Amino acid sequence: MNALVYHGPRGKALQDMPRPALQEATDAIVRITKTTICGTDLHILKGDVPTVAEGRILGHEGIGIVEETGTSVTRFRKGESVIISCITSCGKCEYCRRGMCSHCEHGGWILGNTIDGTQAEFVRIPWADTSLHHIPENADKEAMVMLSDILPTGYECGVLNGCVKPGDTVAIIGAGPIGLATLLTAKLYAPADIIMIDVDEHRLDTSKRLGATKLINNTDGRAMAKIMTMTHGRGADVAVEAVGLPATFNLCQSIIAPGGHIANVGVHGESVPLHLETLWSQNITITTRLVDGVTTQLLLKTIMSGRLLPKQLISHRFMLGDIMSAYETFGNAAREQALKVILTND
Ligand SMILES: [Zn+2]
Ligand SMILES: [Zn+2]
Repeated sequence: MNALVYHGPRGKALQDMPRPALQEATDAIVRITKTTICGTDLHILKGDVPTVAEGRILGHEGIGIVEETGTSVTRFRKGESVIISCITSCGKCEYCRRGMCSHCEHGGWILGNTIDGTQAEFVRIPWADTSLHHIPENADKEAMVMLSDILPTGYECGVLNGCVKPGDTVAIIGAGPIGLATLLTAKLYAPADIIMIDVDEHRLDTSKRLGATKLINNTDGRAMAKIMTMTHGRGADVAVEAVGLPATFNLCQSIIAPGGHIANVGVHGESVPLHLETLWSQNITITTRLVDGVTTQLLLKTIMSGRLLPKQLISHRFMLGDIMSAYETFGNAAREQALKVILTND
């Protein structure tokens, strides 16, 4: 089968790989019908994620059709359409039972990391009963791909951890796919204002279309002053960091209002100074989280009712066989005006 294989920092190839087989009674084999590329895959290709070994098939998002199930799998049958969660969950360990499936003792983020992933024609899914979700018959398939990772990530790590409520001023730093997924799910809570901050004019235009009430192009580095003016000197009630750089986390610290929440979503590769000298008396909360995938069903119902329209996050479409071009487009997101790319395997 065709698969996108990691060959060490800055190396990858679309190549022929053996089809995965069942290894445990709790496994399922899924034939991938649609997958996508994540910002995390770009981090892996830069060599930032040391757990990914050379020879690994990348990808942790996608949908497909169940091809085969182990003898212990009871919730899924051959031929059923499924969403693959980026988080593999055994459903039984202490962390899973606490709803913190990201830290599952037998799973967590393993797809396209410590086991082969979804950028291939077939994938083996461990703990299938608790790591797959059924796709309703009349669902839009492309929208379902957004449920593997970015919608639960934006919602759980940004909106829920940020405690967004009606009337809040929410500032989202970074208008890439994750920042935009946070915007879409924050709107469900009727905040008074959603301020999107980025340096890319096209992404800010997209934010406006998706419901942002105020936009800041921070190319001039004056975002803090602008937010303070917009909020009459108070700052934001919720600041969501959706980039993963010291400068953007620092901006969150400088714009947070008393009593506010800083919700980190970004993947950070270096340390960031914590400004306790100004924050200690401000009653603020700082949160971090790896997505748990515990809100996938809730988000699925919200999509099916038409209240959440994640298809707006998709900018490009390719066939799985053209995944090298898809990486080229996604890796040059500003130039290509790329958000999420969909790869179809027919
Ligand atoms: Zn992802
Ligand atoms: Zn577990």
